[in-house]
Amino acid sequence: MTAPALPAPDATRLDALDRQALHRALIDRVEAAWRLCLEVHPALPRPAVWLDLRGKSAGQAHFGRGGLRFNPVLLDENRLAFLVEVVPHEMAHWLVHHLEDGERARPHGREWQTVMRRLFGLPPRTTHRFDTGRSSPAPYRYRCGCREHAFTARRHALARRGSRYRCRHCAQTLVYYAPPAFEKTV
Ligand SMILES: [Zn+2]
Ligand SMILES: [Zn+2]
Repeated sequence: MTAPALPAPDATRLDALDRQALHRALIDRVEAAWRLCLEVHPALPRPAVWLDLRGKSAGQAHFGRGGLRFNPVLLDENRLAFLVEVVPHEMAHWLVHHLEDGERARPHGREWQTVMRRLFGLPPRTTHRFDTGRSSPAPYRYRCGCREHAFTARRHALARRGSRYRCRHCAQTLVYYAPPAFEKTV
């Protein structure tokens, strides 16, 4: 594994930024990531940037709209992870999509992984350790035989103390399997 291609942000400085300066820092990071991509694909269009994503997704490359979307609540709570991982993650999707035959590549397939490793010098992760306390009202994940269920902190506490919950669809008892701090990017 090579070193990350983009410079490491100053975490202390980053934590001190107000909302507007933080959004500026994100946009600057997107710009830096885009410039890096130009080295391998000079015709890559510059993506627009929106901070309009809600819920559990940290970021999303939106090819129809022509840019990258980010989640402002998760950004605020996970500033360093956003600049270090989420921006390159979405920019790698942006780059792969614009390569020849890129529209046919699988979302986190070989091409995307190669961009993450070789261009950005990062492990090609699709999940990040985030604090989603404020952004998701029901962040605890439970499983049954047929699907995933989301529990609130209150319901999770009751289950921990012995309350049993069953799935309405398959009737199996729900089993806790994932803490709230494990989030996906798309
Ligand atoms: Zn079920
Ligand atoms: Zn992704």
